[in-house]
Amino acid sequence: MNTTSTEAAVRGRVLSPREAAARPWQLVIVGGGPAAAACGLSAATAGLRVLIVERSRMPRTKLCGCCLSPHGQAELAKMGLPLAGPSAGVPLKQLRLVAPGREALLPLTGPQALSRDRLDSSLLGLAVDRGCCLLPETAVLSVADDDALARLSCRTGPEITDHDPLFEPSLRPAATSFDLTASCVVLATGLTDSVRLRGFQADPGDSVTAAPSGRIGLGATLPPDSAPLAAGELVMVIEPYGYCGMVLLEDGRIDIAAAVDAAAVSQTSPADLLRTMLAKTGLGPLPLLTARIRGTPPLTHRRRRTQGRVFRVGDAACYVEPFTGEGIGWALTSGRLAGEALAASATADGLDHVAAARRYERRSTAELSGSFRRCGLIAKAVRSPRLLGAAMGGLRLAPWAGGPLVRLATGCRR
Ligand SMILES: Cc1cc2nc3c(=O)[nH]c(=O)nc-3n(C[C@H](O)[C@H](O)[C@H](O)COP(=O)(O)OP(=O)(O)OC[C@H]3O[C@@H](n4cnc5c(N)ncnc54)[C@H](O)[C@@H]3O)c2cc1C
Repeated sequence: MNTTSTEAAVRGRVLSPREAAARPWQLVIVGGGPAAAACGLSAATAGLRVLIVERSRMPRTKLCGCCLSPHGQAELAKMGLPLAGPSAGVPLKQLRLVAPGREALLPLTGPQALSRDRLDSSLLGLAVDRGCCLLPETAVLSVADDDALARLSCRTGPEITDHDPLFEPSLRPAATSFDLTASCVVLATGLTDSVRLRGFQADPGDSVTAAPSGRIGLGATLPPDSAPLAAGELVMVIEPYGYCGMVLLEDGRIDIAAAVDAAAVSQTSPADLLRTMLAKTGLGPLPLLTARIRGTPPLTHRRRRTQGRVFRVGDAACYVEPFTGEGIGWALTSGRLAGEALAASATADGLDHVAAARRYERRSTAELSGSFRRCGLIAKAVRSPRLLGAAMGGLRLAPWAGGPLVRLATGCRR
């Protein structure tokens, strides 16, 4: 195929609701983040008919620390999206830790800072390029078990674009409701998984398990030149009630992301809380009062990975507090594993979801559980002022221990 016919084929895969509803799909993936793209890419490459449904208009921003771990980069390379050229991030060389009364510098090798608008739209573009169809600006409201198929109730319309301040209410299209059908459904909906399941076997394990003292996420993206932050430096402020990271993105904007106790936010405004934490960096006043502050539900949680024809990947399945910045890598891995498991279970009549579920559960446990446990332990250690103080004091006496400590904390062998 020449370039023009390739572009036409890719354009032809971005569907209208009418086109998407006209046929049954082998696989519908709900969400258009990294987990969805990795799942769609591996399933479509193996020959499945895949539709990705995303409620936002891409490129969209997303609350995230925007640090892509070496594990995440290795997953991207497997997908065929190495971080080079237009998709290159900023290599991170140094972590500046600021805790009450102490400061430490640690060397970093491997992670890159890359904005989520750029990363996520490149990934979704790649998934479409490799054969996935895309239904944009459409929310899935519920999934019903309809005998041999799953029926997804969808809506495209005003509430989907509510978060976009540039989209004038008077210009919004009228809401349209319609159904999609699929052999299997993957929920890649992130932390705010609001899709209702109807008629699927329920058991006590279906409920969300959140950590009892769960923290929530807060963050913002600031325009270029908002602070004298050096490229390649990740600044992290740690307080008893949470921590906040700040990094320069590839286009000069500044990303701010924090995990804080919900109780701390209820005592002040989110902007004031971020301002108070970041004042400790000595980087001067930040324009946080005029910035759009984003928030999340409680971060640490676990849901069932599979439920009949429904599979969960990425944050929708499991998430641990983001101190070491590994969520994107986990999302890519779990999406890939679900896509591979579903593709391997294709039969002449459809998809054997029971075999796919077994395979996905087994491989996810083998590849991800150790990493979740390590991050859970680090999140706990960071909450202990005594442990944190001792570690930072130790680093002052033995700065050479910084590199090995970072590698231990991030599970990076390099
Ligand atoms: C404060 C904070 C800092 C973080 N820092 C880092 C970091 O530095 N490095 C790192 O690797 N990770 C970090 N993470 C984690 C990372 O952001 C997530 O793990 C990652 O985005 C998960 O990807 P995902 O594809 O599962 O979900 P998401 O990226 O959340 O994508 C979900 C998508 O689904 C769409 N969607 C949701 N519901 C519906 C619906 N009903 N219908 C249609 N579409 C829907 C959403 O619009 C969204 O596009 C951080 C997280 C937080 C909260």
